[in-house]
Amino acid sequence: MPLPAPMAASTHKNSCQRCAAVCCRLIVVLMPEDRIPAHLTTTSPEGLLVMARGEDGWCTALDPLRMNCTIYDQRPDTCRRFVMDGTYCRAARKDYQQPQAALLP
Ligand code: SF4
Ligand code: SF4
Repeated sequence: MPLPAPMAASTHKNSCQRCAAVCCRLIVVLMPEDRIPAHLTTTSPEGLLVMARGEDGWCTALDPLRMNCTIYDQRPDTCRRFVMDGTYCRAARKDYQQPQAALLP
């Protein structure tokens, strides 16, 4: 999930710097050990505690201007295990309906 800009520096074509943080549109189920501010969480229809998402579909912890995580140092375990350019990253990018629009210039 999106790294702070200095950490995301990469020339790789699938780097977070060149992505509209599409992984932050996925459902993030929170674990008991996660310590996330309550106003950024919600309960799913299935009764799971998850990261809240805005009407735009992105996680409410995402800075919409910089497209990076505002709680990076305390982000959920699920986000910590999300590997840039890994299987799920590539799938999220592929599934995003507007792949070209998702890429920053
Ligand atoms: S989908 Fe992949 S490249 Fe895009 S922000 Fe998430 S981890 Fe980074
Ligand atoms: S907590 Fe941060 S890394 Fe995780 S989905 Fe939300 S904005 Fe993305």
